[in-house]
Amino acid sequence: MPERLETNERHRRMVLKALLWTTLVGGVFFSILNTLREIWLLVVLEGGYACFSLFLLCIIDRTPHLRTWTLVYLLPFFSIMMVSLLLPKTSFAVFAWIQTIPIICYLLLGLHLGFRVAILFIGIGLLAFNYRYISDDYLTNITVIANISLASLAMLLFSHIYERSRLDNEQRLLQLASTDSLTGLANRTKLSEVFQRESAHAQRAGSPLALVFLDIDHFKQINDQHGHDSGDQALCHLVRVLRERLRNTDLFCRLGGEEFAVLLPHADMTQATEIAENLRLRLAASPLMLGETALNMTLSAGVACLGADGTSLDQLMKAADRRTYAAKHTGRNRVIAADEPQLGELEPAR
Ligand code: GH3
Ligand code: MG
Ligand code: MG
Repeated sequence: MPERLETNERHRRMVLKALLWTTLVGGVFFSILNTLREIWLLVVLEGGYACFSLFLLCIIDRTPHLRTWTLVYLLPFFSIMMVSLLLPKTSFAVFAWIQTIPIICYLLLGLHLGFRVAILFIGIGLLAFNYRYISDDYLTNITVIANISLASLAMLLFSHIYERSRLDNEQRLLQLASTDSLTGLANRTKLSEVFQRESAHAQRAGSPLALVFLDIDHFKQINDQHGHDSGDQALCHLVRVLRERLRNTDLFCRLGGEEFAVLLPHADMTQATEIAENLRLRLAASPLMLGETALNMTLSAGVACLGADGTSLDQLMKAADRRTYAAKHTGRNRVIAADEPQLGELEPAR
């Protein structure tokens, strides 16, 4: 079965690991430094955080709860940063860390949560700056605060634009990977992904789930007699005609060549057979007009059901495929919903 389609979290894991190494090394270094400077609160916080980073480094490759651990790690991380900003003994240079907040938030938390957390901690950081470094010279104050605010906002904006376009590209790639380019239908990879979800739901809820396999009859002749482009038109014509009969929750997909499948949630064998029969009649009654010529098309179909024919997509496909070829052997332009003893002995027609 093809790999499941899902958003890729690998880059988030890598960014988090890089940050964990930074806080491990930084935590050890600064807790030693702050021991010498006798800032005991920071010694405890930074030392403790280095230990926590080490623990996370051990589990981060395996955990399925990446987002939760990221939040558990980041919120105290930024809080320690804020405590450092507010403590009277820490240096002015600690404010440089404010610039890292938007990048870290967007890379690790994504567009929406990243934006909220970044705004929150940048805001607290700027207030802390105001509180510690406010002087009598208000023009200098405005200059310094404007510089820090603008630099932080610029980082926020760049991170936002970067994450937005990364997300769009990821969505586009997922869409391409799950779509058949000729007909625009879902492809086999998408079927496999949707089947996993629907079969789990059907088993939990005790509801039926059916799969219909469709194969155009004598399609090769269309290509041979009218050319490959007309063959492509015929495939798109079939999709237009059959799609009208299906519900939004049904998944109509092209498996390849002139073979299609329809996954029918909440349909038992009887209902799925009726739907398949209806699809067959619709196609037979809707010839494709190639100029003046009416091109009649028919299909053969096999139906399989979750439970009676197995629990995996492979098992259902095999049963539906077997019945489709039984339909081919018994005259084409028909739907078969159950194995007949003698059909099992027939060789497939391909
Ligand atoms: P049967 O009734 O037994 O199913 O016969 P058939 O001719 O439909 O089946 P066969 O498997 O012999 O031929 C399928 C043809 O589909 C062969 C191949 O050239 C054609 N085909 C596969 N993919 C495409 C496509 O994307 N576009 C076009 N135009 N033809 C395609
Ligand atoms: Mg075929
Ligand atoms: Mg065929």
